[in-house]
Amino acid sequence: MHRPGKIVCVGRNYREHAKELGNEVPAAPLLFLKPPSAVIATGAAVVMPAVSQRVDFEGEVGIVIGAPLRLATPAQCAAGIRGVVALNDVTARDLQKSDGQWTRGKGFDTFCPIGPEWAGVPALDAITVVTRVNGEEKQRGSTADLVFPIPDLLSYISQIMTLEPGDVVATGTPAGVGPLQSGDVVEVELIGYSTVRNPVEAEA
Ligand code: ZN
Repeated sequence: MHRPGKIVCVGRNYREHAKELGNEVPAAPLLFLKPPSAVIATGAAVVMPAVSQRVDFEGEVGIVIGAPLRLATPAQCAAGIRGVVALNDVTARDLQKSDGQWTRGKGFDTFCPIGPEWAGVPALDAITVVTRVNGEEKQRGSTADLVFPIPDLLSYISQIMTLEPGDVVATGTPAGVGPLQSGDVVEVELIGYSTVRNPVEAEA
């Protein structure tokens, strides 16, 4: 995977996931950023920092931008997509809560596994994302169930910051998030498109 210029993420974009963490569905997309330095490829280890007692997986559909998108309509955004990637928005849940904002909890090195890019524009409202830990299915969602559909989400982001070629937008995680342990293997699959699989290690 190339290193994206930026990774724009959205929180609480599936109703059932918002509910499982006791949150309301937001009226507008709730955005945050992950640093490009967090990106790892399939096969590399997710390293759990010693400062966190709870590191969660979040399987997500990642959209790779192909054309500059600024103040763009949803249709322009859909046409500006270059491909899709499986993405794991690894999160130190305890630090996310205690900090009150998400930079630290979402930003550790290795906290953004990204799978090989599938080039093209799939049916944006029919991508299935599945997360497995040690082969056991933990999450299954479809972009049909997104609170903010992908073209609308990209358009919203483009009103704030220019989306540039190679940037990645993580579109939110479905219900079923849970903790990782040292020794686990975590896998996020966009069925038919991309898979990212990573061992999990405790910080040495
Ligand atoms: Zn997420």
